[in-house]
Amino acid sequence: MIILKNVTVAGETTDVLIGAGKILAIGSYTVDERLITQTIDGTGKQLIPGLLDGHVHPIGGGGEGGFATRTPPLSAADFLEAGVTTVVGLLGTDGWTRTGIDLLAHLRGYTSQRIRSFLLSGSYAVPPVSITPSIAEDILLINEVIGIGEIAINDHRSTQPTVHELSRLASQARIAGLLKGVRGTMNVHIGDGKRALALLEEVVEMTDIPITQFLPTHINRSERIFEAGLRWAKQGGRIDFTTCTTEAFIKEGEIPAGQALHRALAAGIPLTRITMSSDAGASLPAFDESGKLLRLETGKPTSMLDAVREAVKHGVHFKDAIQTVTSNVAEAYGISGGNIQPGERADLLLIDDALQIDTILAEGHAIMIQKKWLLPK
Ligand code: ZN
Repeated sequence: MIILKNVTVAGETTDVLIGAGKILAIGSYTVDERLITQTIDGTGKQLIPGLLDGHVHPIGGGGEGGFATRTPPLSAADFLEAGVTTVVGLLGTDGWTRTGIDLLAHLRGYTSQRIRSFLLSGSYAVPPVSITPSIAEDILLINEVIGIGEIAINDHRSTQPTVHELSRLASQARIAGLLKGVRGTMNVHIGDGKRALALLEEVVEMTDIPITQFLPTHINRSERIFEAGLRWAKQGGRIDFTTCTTEAFIKEGEIPAGQALHRALAAGIPLTRITMSSDAGASLPAFDESGKLLRLETGKPTSMLDAVREAVKHGVHFKDAIQTVTSNVAEAYGISGGNIQPGERADLLLIDDALQIDTILAEGHAIMIQKKWLLPK
């Protein structure tokens, strides 16, 4: 068993007892001292849940510049060092040379390295690609599959689904989700096309599918998409900001996620409707002045905490910013996690005054203690 001593949880200083991969007690407990294998001093540190990253490309995404531009896979360590202990993996533009089976196998590798791993069936395309004969069966038969995505709309790389196709697909995922006990959420990639969220708005208007069935992402891509996203959220929808970015994207009008969070809250959007995800594994092209491709970088999970720190700089409370990368994500997908309470998986981070990670526990196992990395890299 591990004891975290003198940690700050929701403003209170307390001790946390961890065993068998779970939080056993917070505050007072009685335990045979001989069972304690490790005591970690957390004086002055805040204890927060491990982050849930709701939109990542574990086997790489993108590759729209020819086969030489396919982005490489991400390792479990890439996520753990960023404090991410739960991932929702998906395919992107390329659902043909990259497959759901490959993605599932890669995610199971993460699971064996103590990352809680989920999967969205499908890719950008409609009709969707799936592992079993259908999206619904993927959700029902494969434990890790909790929804569908990222289905692309408003993008030249989208397969241009109609309102009916999108409605049919969302209801398939929803019904299978109901049967399984998850939300069957549809993660929707919003490109920078001219219709913004119009197609999704039509689905909600024309059918009885609840607005919360959808999680539109990349809402901070441009001012226009951001404004449409605020309207969507005011109607009760959830919105997701992407934390990976580049100087060039920002120059083109992308709003850094931390800043977008601050602006959305200032505009009166309830905190519970906002999530942030990294889009890690996606390709981030860098161009020179004349528009020539210089290199392709890969989005990193560390951008999640960077965005939290940026939001805090803009005046968002740390606790609120963290909620968008923990419990709000769990809520959006209808999964557990993102809270610190007895019985929960011990996916925990200690955060220092500079909002840097000090200690990482994944499923109760020490990954990093007082900034000392404990796994082989
Ligand atoms: Zn996307």
